[in-house]
Amino acid sequence: MTVAPTVLRDRLRGHEADLLALLAELVSMESPSDDRGLASRVAERLAAEATSIGLQVELEPAGPYAQTVVARMAGSNPPIGRRVLLVGHYDTVYPAGTLGQHPFRIDGDVAYGPGVFDMKGGLVIGLHALRALRVLARDRCPPVTFVMNGDEEPGSPNSRATIEREARDHDLAIVLEPGRPGPALTMARKGVGIFRMAVAGIEAHAGAEPEKGANSLVELAHKIIAIERLSDRAAGTTVTVGVARGGTQPYVVPGSAELSLDVRVETDAERDRILESLHSIAATTHVPGTTTGLDGSFHRPPLQASPSAEAYAAIAQRIAAEIGYPLGLGASGGASDGNLTSAMGTPTIDGFGAHGGGAHSPREYAEVSSLTRKAAVLAAFLLVLGELDGPVDA
Ligand SMILES: [Zn+2]
Repeated sequence: MTVAPTVLRDRLRGHEADLLALLAELVSMESPSDDRGLASRVAERLAAEATSIGLQVELEPAGPYAQTVVARMAGSNPPIGRRVLLVGHYDTVYPAGTLGQHPFRIDGDVAYGPGVFDMKGGLVIGLHALRALRVLARDRCPPVTFVMNGDEEPGSPNSRATIEREARDHDLAIVLEPGRPGPALTMARKGVGIFRMAVAGIEAHAGAEPEKGANSLVELAHKIIAIERLSDRAAGTTVTVGVARGGTQPYVVPGSAELSLDVRVETDAERDRILESLHSIAATTHVPGTTTGLDGSFHRPPLQASPSAEAYAAIAQRIAAEIGYPLGLGASGGASDGNLTSAMGTPTIDGFGAHGGGAHSPREYAEVSSLTRKAAVLAAFLLVLGELDGPVDA
């Protein structure tokens, strides 16, 4: 028997206190990406929560970071519908001790605390949506895998392989990162690259024989101007030289200098243009005697909405409207693990987490009422996905 989206909504609303208790607990356990000891405790707490819902849980090692939690819900037997991957991270950007100044607290419809919005709120939404489905619609659930990683903020260096492997094995990825203002889901994210150029020149006495030197800083200056010109606002491409340094003393022609830069692109075509241009800027010499090396890469490819991702999103939007919480579609300049899932060719909907603001700042907050609403939209969406067996737009 089908369960109406409004039934899921009412159940989740009725359990708002449970959602908030789990959120309070998770936010009150600090989990800086680079503090494996602290972050592991959150991984273990999440694993216990997923187990209590009836999921099969594995903790995968993630090098110097805390474990990646991989929780699987088998779905109905025999399996029906789409295989869905949920993705969320439990690490935060805040150093240990931040809770001392900014403890978890609720004031009206606003919950404050480090990571409440980015994105422990999203984890609570995912876990409670699955809990509601297990209780109300166990025989109609699609197979769901929920990956929770602890190294997203530094770019998922170690959980990336897990996320890519799981993305390949699933039909749709839903990322529980914060929602966009509107409220809206996130359908596109820029790709991010970090690059470094190192100029080798020739040191010489600035007074006695400057002609024997090759000034690496002057060469670097030419390159900075050329790099800045690669930005193309209309195409959504930004290129920022964020660091430059070089030289030793005012009276020494500088023998070495380097810069590092951040690139954000919306499309693969722009990514290719930037890569080609950076190689050509590195290879073009203005100051004779200098040579330049380039290293770096796009560690996050752009997330571009595919037609099938848009068709899935249209279903989610229809459900959201039915529940009384209409959701628009938006885009973000920041990257997430959704960039990784979509690069594997898996249709990806991001921004399924909490609504709020102030991510990565002491002002971080989540709207309390968005938690049960997004959980209801997610649960009802999963139920529809569990019954889809034709093309997505049917
Ligand atoms: Zn995040």
